[in-house]
Amino acid sequence: MLMEKERALIAEYGRKMNSAGLARGTAGNISIYDAETGYMAISPSGIGYFETEPEDVVVLTLDGKVVDGNRKPSSEYGLHAGFYKAKADKGVRAIVHTHSDFATTLACMGEPIRAVHYVIASAGTHEIPLCGYTTFGTPKLAEMAVEACGDAPAVLLANHGLVACGVDLPKAFGLADKLENLAKTQWQCMCTGKMNVLTKEQIDEVLVRFQTYGQTKAKPGTLNSY
Ligand SMILES: [Zn+2]
Repeated sequence: MLMEKERALIAEYGRKMNSAGLARGTAGNISIYDAETGYMAISPSGIGYFETEPEDVVVLTLDGKVVDGNRKPSSEYGLHAGFYKAKADKGVRAIVHTHSDFATTLACMGEPIRAVHYVIASAGTHEIPLCGYTTFGTPKLAEMAVEACGDAPAVLLANHGLVACGVDLPKAFGLADKLENLAKTQWQCMCTGKMNVLTKEQIDEVLVRFQTYGQTKAKPGTLNSY
């Protein structure tokens, strides 16, 4: 079985995504990219996370040709492939796409995730941008999402959900979970009508401070460095 370890991880993290409240039913999808072979493993279309076994995970090229697996890949395989084509050279090796409650709420309101809380700096950015709306599963969505994301590690898709990138699956999952929490804080602030967004300078200071925080010393703006 090609990408055996990665397929097992995708099955495991699908369950985690569901248990963490980041996914309901079959919404959302997960992928891992192998830069050596150029293959991507992605969760299957329309199978519940608790029913997905490693062999249900599909392996395909970034052009959508299935190389291993009997299932139909996620309808968003083109979205994932678009990010790997654009960001593999920046170290992106895993993507988590969710329709999680609060990130999706902001996306439906046409709001990016703003610097309401300093912890957004731990994603190495001042803001998670918002991509305009277009139909799910289309090449147009992949193109628009990659462009709107720019150098950020994640992007909101209007009236749809969130795409989070990582150097590995635990990092991409952790980012999706963190951004859901930040989106919740922002939504709560918006509900009260009082939202104080931190300035770029204030976030820049946090980015510098994070360089010496925790176990690793990382450069600001490096993907999933904190
Ligand atoms: Zn979706």
